[in-house]
Amino acid sequence: MSDGRPALLLSAGAATDPDPAAVQAVLAELGLLGAPWRPDRYLVGPGFLNHIAFLGCAPAVDFAPRDDLAFCHIHLPGRLPAPRWYSHPRARPTCPACRATLADWRNQGDPADPDTRLTCPACGHAAPLGAWRWRGRLAAASRCPVLIEHIFEGEAVPGDRLLAALREATGSPWRPAWVTLD
Ligand SMILES: [Zn+2]
Repeated sequence: MSDGRPALLLSAGAATDPDPAAVQAVLAELGLLGAPWRPDRYLVGPGFLNHIAFLGCAPAVDFAPRDDLAFCHIHLPGRLPAPRWYSHPRARPTCPACRATLADWRNQGDPADPDTRLTCPACGHAAPLGAWRWRGRLAAASRCPVLIEHIFEGEAVPGDRLLAALREATGSPWRPAWVTLD
């Protein structure tokens, strides 16, 4: 399995269906979105670093466009046909019944489909992906994802004002996760 492209995902969860236009308007208003670059992709805008906080000292963040997408930019796929489960290669669910950890959960079905049911090898409990415990913000479902690409695990987090603006515009709480993309 390839590790894929790293991204910071902002998500309102699988059960909510935010209006992509409202989400895009929030990002534009706060200055996160810069010039359109490719379909559904934008360079970062002048307000980006006011709302995305890079942790650690003096991170070297690359904002210059590259054809292989390995630079920091914003990808807005819009409303997906169905909710999608995003995850990081190190994401491990814990059984909600017995707390056993599943290392090989990706072999139990489509890891991008939130309806995929996992069965616990320790106790036999079976439940869809979202019913398991995912620690460390390494997995989340989304119907209308905001993907800030080329952000590695733990490298950056969204600011409170950005999350509050998304919540206000869509009526649902938004949360960050560090994931990888195909
Ligand atoms: Zn179990």
